Amino acid sequence: MTLRVDRLSQPIQAGGGTALYNEVFAGNRCTVCGACVGLCPYMVHRRGRVIMRDRCTLNAGRCYDFCPMGGARGRFDGELGRYKNILIAQATSLDILKRAQYGGVVSTLTSLSLSQGLVDEAILTGGHPENAPAGIRVKSRPEVLAAAGSRFAASGAVGMLNEALKDHGHSLAFVGTPCQVKAVAAMRRAAPDRVDYHPKRIKIVIGLFCSWALDYRRLSKYLRFMLLGERSTGYDIPPPPAGVFKVYTGDGIKALPLDDIRGFRLNACRFCDDMTGAQADISVGGVEGLEAWNTVIVRTAAGQKLLDLALDKKLLVADRLPDSDLEHLVEAAGLKKERSRRVWREEG
Ligand SMILES: Cc1cc2nc3c(=O)[nH]c(=O)nc-3n(C[C@H](O)[C@H](O)[C@H](O)COP(=O)(O)OP(=O)(O)OC[C@H]3O[C@@H](n4cnc5c(N)ncnc54)[C@H](O)[C@@H]3O)c2cc1C
Ligand code: SF4
Ligand code: SF4
Repeated sequence: MTLRVDRLSQPIQAGGGTALYNEVFAGNRCTVCGACVGLCPYMVHRRGRVIMRDRCTLNAGRCYDFCPMGGARGRFDGELGRYKNILIAQATSLDILKRAQYGGVVSTLTSLSLSQGLVDEAILTGGHPENAPAGIRVKSRPEVLAAAGSRFAASGAVGMLNEALKDHGHSLAFVGTPCQVKAVAAMRRAAPDRVDYHPKRIKIVIGLFCSWALDYRRLSKYLRFMLLGERSTGYDIPPPPAGVFKVYTGDGIKALPLDDIRGFRLNACRFCDDMTGAQADISVGGVEGLEAWNTVIVRTAAGQKLLDLALDKKLLVADRLPDSDLEHLVEAAGLKKERSRRVWREEG
């Protein structure tokens, strides 16, 4: 394994399949981001997990370099990372609001990027809530709408970005959780001569706030048992003190104990230091007490330009983030970062 220095002057480790196995899989630290999938025949995403089909003995590879628990771990400033602007926003389109998880900002920005030709394709996470979530490639507003809402199991969507990057020439947007954003940020920083698929074509990265994600197989087994044959159509985790995991079914809403669900969290999430996607162009999460709004953190010029365009076209309305909400967000993100440091110290 060798040490190299990336553009942010953070020492990051370079490695390959051997390091990926020893440091990530052997310690059960895979976030199921998908960054190592689609690069070689060894790594596959199957039913909500990423599996190393055989032991690879190479000492160099993108699989390790872009892994958020390996070479792309990195560091970021403060609790929320660097940002230009923080606010709350909501979609104005009723069809987006009806399907979106909260305020529909992510679906609005994705759909706008496509319709304005800022990107040719977007990589999202989709699939029926009962199936394992997975990366999807979309080009139109109806496809964006079909992917709206949160699937709380990890999705491996960066593997689909790897697929899309193999098709030369077109520009891409990516939406994902902070661990996926870390992987994609490492890809964007990679020297062009290291990669044969031009990651500079990734024009927009939208990060989702994330405290943890679930193991799909354990969740689906539990839901089959608890729902007694009823089909689920969507999920939500309302903010504290609700303490429930809401399951939407044909018959209404079932509120299951959140403590049951917590047991299905990925082990990797204990190691994760980033709640808001510090290396995205723009990050989006919920707002305490305002279910149909989003907190929006604008981080780069590209993120600001996209948000301004959506506001100019009146596709979004925006307001100030109340100081108390900002304090809570900083506190929650700081606690996550601190917990992660402790876990790495004790188990790293
Ligand atoms: C695993 C997970 C944990 C989260 N935890 C928090 C949290 O602790 N606090 C908080 O404020 N917000 C959290 N969120 C973010 C929140 O649920 C919304 O995604 C976000 O606020 C955007 O809302 P929206 O209405 O704009 O989304 P929408 O317009 O509905 O768009 C949602 C987007 O999320 C993508 N998506 C859905 N499921 C996944 C997935 N499993 N992995 C990657 N992308 C996915 C879809 O492709 C879609 O583009 C979490 C999201 C996920 C997926
Ligand atoms: S965290 Fe991502 S890159 Fe690392 S092993 Fe898991 S799926 Fe692969
Ligand atoms: S908590 Fe971190 S590691 Fe877990 S899914 Fe969210 S971003 Fe990924």
